[in-house]
Amino acid sequence: MEFCKNKLKIKIEFINDLDLRKQAQELGIKIWQTPSFLFIVFGLATTIIMAATYFISKNYENPAVLVVSECLVVVVIFIVEMLVARFIEQMARLNRMKSEFVSIASHQLRTPLSAVKWEAELLLKKLKKGLSKKQINNIESIYLINQRMIHLVNDLLDVARIDQNRLILRKQEFDFSKMVEEIVREVVPTIKLRHIEIRINAKKDLPMAVGDPEKVRLVVENLLDNAVKYTTSGGKIGIKIFKTGKYLSFEIKDNGVGIPEEQLNRVFEKFFRSDNAAKYQTEGTGLGLYIAKNIIEQLGGEIWFRSIENVGSVFSFSLPSGK
Ligand code: ADP
Repeated sequence: MEFCKNKLKIKIEFINDLDLRKQAQELGIKIWQTPSFLFIVFGLATTIIMAATYFISKNYENPAVLVVSECLVVVVIFIVEMLVARFIEQMARLNRMKSEFVSIASHQLRTPLSAVKWEAELLLKKLKKGLSKKQINNIESIYLINQRMIHLVNDLLDVARIDQNRLILRKQEFDFSKMVEEIVREVVPTIKLRHIEIRINAKKDLPMAVGDPEKVRLVVENLLDNAVKYTTSGGKIGIKIFKTGKYLSFEIKDNGVGIPEEQLNRVFEKFFRSDNAAKYQTEGTGLGLYIAKNIIEQLGGEIWFRSIENVGSVFSFSLPSGK
């Protein structure tokens, strides 16, 4: 059964590969630039060259003809290789330009967004007097929407840094359990509003974790945010922290919407959002887990998960432990 499924999948992928127009649309390039088109052209060129060489060697015994034809073959292969190398170089350049653009645009966006945040905070904290309830509600909405934008811009900056191998992480000892408890405390009001129950089970006398506290906080916040986002009202979330050998492990379990089986292998891809989650919860960028995986692996840990659609998910990661 599994074998038949795999065979069918390979067949569908092969048919998709031959749909040049679709491939060109998906990659945003011209049809003659698609990998499948180039593959077909190179395949044809190789076949023609082989047939011509065979024909020449069979019909002409003169060594000079053979030498000239072989030289021609070498020239053709050389030109093809040069074209491929140029094409790959162009792609790499475009990819670098795209990452640099995202990086510069995100940096530029950070300044006005921070200014809006300070102004809204000032209005809400110091200049509240004299404002009507409706005005306060509006400013609070501006503040929350702006916070979401800041979060998105920070995610884009991290993705650009990861893509350019520029993500710099500190390695220091920190109290991981205390950090998790703090993060949970911050989200309790939202969780309560959605009637979701949350429990933390942290073993006593755990060693310190070794890593970048700021970035590890980001990972935990993202996993907790996902567990809340993708769990229906009245659901249950359980967190466990324990030691496994020289590592500290974190596990977060929910009984939410889960992830469809056929999409499980794409969960850590950039911009991935499962079909059911996109329908159920419109907010999200599909960047959180991609960033989380890169952070944890760069810190020497591992991240993994299991999930069943309509049953729930368990996301876990490990970090090297200290004293
Ligand atoms: P976002 O949540 O912003 O879409 P993430 O990278 O954090 O991006 O997650 C990628 C996708 O993985 C989500 O869109 C969702 O489809 C799926 N996912 C992640 N965590 C969960 C979870 N706890 N339950 C169900 N689906 C999840």
